[in-house]
Order: sequence, then structure tokens, then C-alpha cells
Amino acid sequence: MHELISELYPICRSITGDGVRQTLEIVGREIPLDVSEVPTGTSVLDWTVPREWNIRDAWIKDKGGNRIVDFRECNLHVVSYSTPIHATVSRDELEQHLYSLPDQPAWVPYRTSYYQETWGFCLSENQRKALTDDEYEVCIDSDLSDGHLTYGECVVPGSSEREVLISSHVCHPSLCNDNLAGIAVAVQLARRLRAAGLRHTYRFVFAPGTIGAITWLARNRDVTPRIDHGLVLTCVGDPAPFTYKKSRRGDAPIDRAAAYVLGDGGVNGNKVVGFHPYGYDERQYCSPGFDLGVGCLMRSHHGQFPEYHTSADDLDFVRPEALTGTVETCLRIIEVLEHDVRYRNLSPYGEPQLGKRGLYRSMGGAPDAKTNELALLWVLNQSDGENSLLDIAERSGLDFTLIRWAAGTLFDHELLEPIG
Ligand code: ZN
Repeated sequence: MHELISELYPICRSITGDGVRQTLEIVGREIPLDVSEVPTGTSVLDWTVPREWNIRDAWIKDKGGNRIVDFRECNLHVVSYSTPIHATVSRDELEQHLYSLPDQPAWVPYRTSYYQETWGFCLSENQRKALTDDEYEVCIDSDLSDGHLTYGECVVPGSSEREVLISSHVCHPSLCNDNLAGIAVAVQLARRLRAAGLRHTYRFVFAPGTIGAITWLARNRDVTPRIDHGLVLTCVGDPAPFTYKKSRRGDAPIDRAAAYVLGDGGVNGNKVVGFHPYGYDERQYCSPGFDLGVGCLMRSHHGQFPEYHTSADDLDFVRPEALTGTVETCLRIIEVLEHDVRYRNLSPYGEPQLGKRGLYRSMGGAPDAKTNELALLWVLNQSDGENSLLDIAERSGLDFTLIRWAAGTLFDHELLEPIG
């Protein structure tokens, strides 16, 4: 995953343009990807697909002709969606178009201006302080013209048509935790799930933030009623504990599954927070017309870590072991979504005799035999058709995987039947 992030890192992405195409081309080498191109001007819900932005080069030169701010060194130097310019401007005028971080003088901020036409440069406060000439030559070799918005989808079919949506945005330039980590984790999940034999169908959406999700929703009105659960993956590659932001519904099965797996407020430092209509594409999936059971999984919370939207969100900030931990956590949540079913005990009057079925003490000697027996008794006792396996795991304090094993074993011995 870290290698994939390293390969994607130099590409200058935005909400449209060749950077998104190149990114999806690389993702498409890892997993089968359907790429859609939606023309500029297309109406999508209350929005319109914008003009396509592409950039080749940009710089600020001093009087000696030296590139003192250079897009080729760092693509964050240009405000995303900047209109083209090539001019000599006074330092005062240039200052109106500069963005820096006085509190973090060595870092370059990330800024966008998607829906208001302007141009600008982002630079470190140190670079900005070194601007002493009266005038500078500035160049942004970009164009904004009719083209397309590009997004990609990978569907991993399960035995049912009911779907789980995994969504990550693909519109940030050289930033790792905010954006590339989500893409890398989604790719890895898609690869792992393709071999898994699933109940749900898993749909991975790789789309530019906001306008991409809105475009996808507008074109998939027939799909959204089939989506039972979903996760937006963002900022999932740094070593911080997890934060899960609940869906708008707040009590959707994904909310319970994520809270169970993360263990809100536990010693691991993970947190579960309520829905709020700011953040990433959960804003669109959880708009009231759709109101999908889609939550947002993060490590550091977007907007709340110093490196967020700066050049310090780089290849060192995301850690291979953190990425692996995120994949494992997602798979645990998915395990609950896949297997949280209800059963009915077929021998509910008194405990069924487990010993004669080889399920009691016959496992004696194994150190975990007692825990296994306890799991069998919990599942038998609680399976009145009302309680699901997650209910039983929560009430017993036993691990979901163990409860799932117990249910499978009892089913094999014809002591349980699934409901529905
Ligand atoms: Zn962002």
C-alpha cells in the first residue's frame, strides 16, 4: 500500500483532469475498474459538472530569472483550478495571490478555488519572507476547458444484490494521508474481498470529492436503494487511533458494527463521534434524500491534525503498519456486516445435551475449551429469533468471531436455524 501511495504521490490531481485519469489508470492495474467520463455541463442533482482543469507548469521567477517557486518541485505550489496567467506583477499585487502558513513556516499549504475563477500560489512562509524584489514574473500554464469529470468503480459481487459501498476521494494532489491512504486501503480491501465468498456485493467508488460523489449519485439512482451499508475512507494512513463518524441515521448497522469493532473509548484510544454535515462524501451519501447507512472511518480526524492540507502530509506521515491496521479493522467491520444474522434455537426447552453431540468437555484439555463452551451456551440461550450474533457478542463480552464460530457449529448440529 505504501508503494502504491509513493507511485501516486507525484501526480497533480484535482476534481477533474488528467491527474485523476492517471490515478485511476494505476488503480486499474491493481483491481478491475470501470471508469466513467461525464461531460462538462452535465446536470448532476443540484450541481453542474465543471470545466476540466489541466496544468503543465507554473512558477514565480525573480529578476534574475530564477524559479523561486516551482510547480515541478511541489504541485501544492499552485492553487488548484487556477486560471492561466503569464505576467510581470508588482510584489504588492503578487502578495494578493499568495497563501502561506505563518505558524508552520516550512510547510506549503494546499488551497483550491474550484468554483471562483482566480489564480494563486501556495508557498512556505520562509519562501514568502524571502520575496524582496519590486516585481516578479509569474506563470501558470494551465487550462480550463470543456472536458469531463472522471470517476472509477470496482464491483466485487456477492451472493446477494444488497450492497456495501466503500468510497474514497481521488482529487487531492501530493497529499498522502488525506486522500492517497484511502485509495490504497480501498484497493487492498477490494483485492482481499475478491477471494472471500461474500454475502453482500461490495462497490468501491473512486471519485473526486463532493462533485464526484454527487455525479455518481445522480447517475446511480437505481443502485442507491440496494445499498445497505457503507464506509467513506479518509485520512486512514497515519498512526493515530481510529475515529469513526456515524451515519446520519446514527443507529444504522454499520454504526453498531464499527463501534463494536473499534471499542469506543477503550484503552486503544479509538473514538466514535456523531454525524455532522461537514467532512467528506458522507455529506452526500447521508443527504436526507438518500440517507444511506454510510459512516466515515478515519485515523486522525480531518482538519484536526497539523499536517492536514499541507506539504507535511507526505510519504513519511503515512505508515505501512497503520495502513495494514486499517485494512484489518475494515475487514473486522465487514465480518460483522456479513455474519450478523439472527438464529432460532431448535431445542429451546432446557439446554440441549451438548456432550452427546461431542460439543461439551470432549474438547477438554484445550485451554480455550471453556470459552468455546461458553460461546455455545450464549448463542443457544440468546437465539430466540430476536437477538443477532452482534447482540450476543456485545451482551456476552465474547469476541464476534468466536460467537460466529459457535453459531456455525450449532447450525451444523441442527440446533439452530437462521431467521430470514
Ligand atoms: Zn482534504
